[in-house]
Amino acid sequence: MKKNKTPKPLNFSTGWDYAPAPESTDHIKLEKQYDLFIGGKFVKPSGGKYFDTINPATEKKLASIAIAETKDVDKAVQAARKAYDTVWGKMPGAERSKYIFRIARMIQERAREFSVIESMDGGKPIRESRDIDIPLAANHFFYYAGWADKLNYAFPNRKPSSLGVAAQIIPWNFPLLMAAWKIAPALATGNTVVLKPAETTPLTALKLAELIRDSGLPDGVVNIITGAGNTGAAMVGHTGVDKIAFTGSTDVGKLIQKSIAGTNKKLTLELGGKAANIIFEDAPLDQAVEGIINGIFFNQGHVCCAGSRLFIQENVADIVIRKLKQRMETLIIGDPLDKNTDIGAINSKEQLQTILKYIQIGKNEGADIYQSSCSMPAKGFFCKPTLFLNTSQSHRIVQEEIFGPVLTIQTFRTIEEVIEKANNIPYGLSAGVWTDKGSKIFNLTSRLRAGVVWANTYNKFDPTSPFGGYKESGFGREGGLHGLMPYLKF
Ligand code: ADP
Repeated sequence: MKKNKTPKPLNFSTGWDYAPAPESTDHIKLEKQYDLFIGGKFVKPSGGKYFDTINPATEKKLASIAIAETKDVDKAVQAARKAYDTVWGKMPGAERSKYIFRIARMIQERAREFSVIESMDGGKPIRESRDIDIPLAANHFFYYAGWADKLNYAFPNRKPSSLGVAAQIIPWNFPLLMAAWKIAPALATGNTVVLKPAETTPLTALKLAELIRDSGLPDGVVNIITGAGNTGAAMVGHTGVDKIAFTGSTDVGKLIQKSIAGTNKKLTLELGGKAANIIFEDAPLDQAVEGIINGIFFNQGHVCCAGSRLFIQENVADIVIRKLKQRMETLIIGDPLDKNTDIGAINSKEQLQTILKYIQIGKNEGADIYQSSCSMPAKGFFCKPTLFLNTSQSHRIVQEEIFGPVLTIQTFRTIEEVIEKANNIPYGLSAGVWTDKGSKIFNLTSRLRAGVVWANTYNKFDPTSPFGGYKESGFGREGGLHGLMPYLKF
């Protein structure tokens, strides 16, 4: 690729701005303090300790959250076991499905409240929590409710049966959605649950606990406990747990795998990613540019399947990069609760520091940086959308997951070259291909080592389609028929 000169901000300003369109928070009811949801009730943590959850866009405290210690984890696992042995494990699938449908409908009814809290606690734009996270969470419950009484048809002649108690640990990038991905298939297959949300985004899981209590689900079928890594480790180490489902960093995934070696616990891991988004010369370029923007800047790049490595066929590189910069200039960064906002707040100060560290690493490695010239809020944790040009396979910014709005760009000439480069990475979660030619799509989708490959689109999710990775991106699938399997024995 031609070496770029020092990047100058492009001036694509239209001379006008959108008027603010903030979502109202009047209808949101948050408690000052949240306890642990165990056995159908909120109970105080045994150690009496709490931590703060804050709004990353304002840095203001939202609530105090209980820290579950080993004793509390034990209580939660026992509550789940009792519910499994006495009610849920024996309940016919058709009855289970009624409860799951009810949860789905209640999420729909309270969708606005959940969306606003998701954006307040996690920093993602309201447009995303409103249009993606919350409807998809409800859809996962709807979808799996439909399977609860059809397991014998899903796996004919295999006599599927439930496992028992599932410990589920989730991250902060899609808090309610990840809870739905984990809870819905576990319940549909007749298991009971102890779930822990991430420490920076516990609120929608706790709201879900209130909803589950109100739904009349038998006590102890779903327990939601809060805390940081120690709480998660205690869940993983508990001898009463039959199944562990974890979504988070590759480092913690490896720790979990080591710690359960030699036990009978079943495990699914959904870990990091560093997806290749590949644009061929024959692609619809404007559509592709929109897809790249969506693929990496969507949810501030806090997406394990984010299209964080862009590969452009050499002869269209200049035009794609120009269009990309042009589109970046129009992105609105700011208040997550404003309906016009494209890019909200980085989830935490620590995550912002990680992203800034990688931006510095990229500069030190000699890549050319381009950041859009948008205005930035004075308070809160924000990061400008960032491109790195002239990067190479050996750069750390190309190899390592940044989990922020940072895109690296490389060019390629042939299909063989781009497949080689795209696969030459420790991860294998997702990839994107943009081309007008169907045969090229089939060629690439079968040779890219990624669990999900999107063609002429990006970041599309549906409860019916499985999601999961290869290599250091983990194993096991969530979503679809495949998502039932990790919760069943045959
Ligand atoms: P991220 O980088 O996405 O925050 P983490 O892997 O650190 O990813 O966190 C994902 C989830 O795993 C969180 O709920 C966190 O509290 C939990 N967690 C962190 N450390 C451990 C551990 N050693 N064992 C189990 N769970 C953990």
